[in-house]
Amino acid sequence: MDVSVVIPVYNEEENLQSLFERLCRTMDSIGKPWEVIFVNDGSKDRSGEILRRFCKERPGTVKLIDFNGNYGQHTAIIAAFERAAGEVVVTLDADLQNPPEEIVKLLEKIDEGCDSVGGYRKQREDTALRRYCSKIVNIARDKMTNIRMKDQGCMLRAYKRNVIKAILGTNERSLFIPALAYTFSSNPAEIEVEHAARAAGESKYSMYRLIRLNFDLITGFTLMPLQLFTLFGFLSSLGSFALVAILLFRRFFIIGEGEAEGVFTLFAILFFLISVAIVGIGLIGEYIGRIYQVVQSRPKYVLKETVGFGEDGK
Ligand code: UDP
Ligand code: MG
Repeated sequence: MDVSVVIPVYNEEENLQSLFERLCRTMDSIGKPWEVIFVNDGSKDRSGEILRRFCKERPGTVKLIDFNGNYGQHTAIIAAFERAAGEVVVTLDADLQNPPEEIVKLLEKIDEGCDSVGGYRKQREDTALRRYCSKIVNIARDKMTNIRMKDQGCMLRAYKRNVIKAILGTNERSLFIPALAYTFSSNPAEIEVEHAARAAGESKYSMYRLIRLNFDLITGFTLMPLQLFTLFGFLSSLGSFALVAILLFRRFFIIGEGEAEGVFTLFAILFFLISVAIVGIGLIGEYIGRIYQVVQSRPKYVLKETVGFGEDGK
């Protein structure tokens, strides 16, 4: 097997037929042995049914991993990585935002000797709010981690077997695959790819899930938020100490100065510091929660069924 294409699917019934046609046309035209692994991430619509039909239409090429519930896009991709046979593995979204035709370009770049190739979107067709937030996270990631990429959110990417192997070697729960792959590759490259508006349906990421995902990105690759917090705590305790010294001096040596006037300023300072402390507790919680998930060592996902793999589900 030369190329495995991995596609996570969550309620994408309207997009699957046209995705499948375009994908088959592109991959057949390349002329290398290939497979596609669809992961049905607990869809509640007819996606599972449609994917089973694809498996029957092209047995040997189309494979399906069916989860018993919704575990998220990145976990779905990991399940497919565990079973992908290809020397090169390509990831792709099911909503046709990543045109399947662009896979050709990724594979060309792999043939040039890169072990992971990321796409960055020429013109991103998402809402302005999404693009704006992504920009902020992109900057935060760039400043806080060693990961250098133009467009972390683009899932149209290709990885060689060595990178896939390294990713499977980790035991992380809340993972962010493009960033993980970047840290494990020796010769990463980026190319420009087209991006389209979602063909049908709506984004499966609510604001809350997006925030969680981006926390995974930052907490997974750096401790800097904790360190910045400690640094701030250190500076503000120095400041507070100075303030206490000034107030004591005023209380005992500048007699007659009104005490009550400064009270509201003090409250303001106090509220600010309390809110900072709450942020810090939350931040520590983010890291501890992730440690907890790993320590529990529950299975990352539970399968309902796999279709098209060998006896052992591989
Ligand atoms: N997806 C998934 N599980 C989820 C959420 C999304 O498998 O819990 C899939 C979804 O079907 C799509 C891809 O991940 O193929 C990207 O999702 P989406 O297009 O909703 O994200 P966006 O493009 O808005 O970032
Ligand atoms: Mg999308």
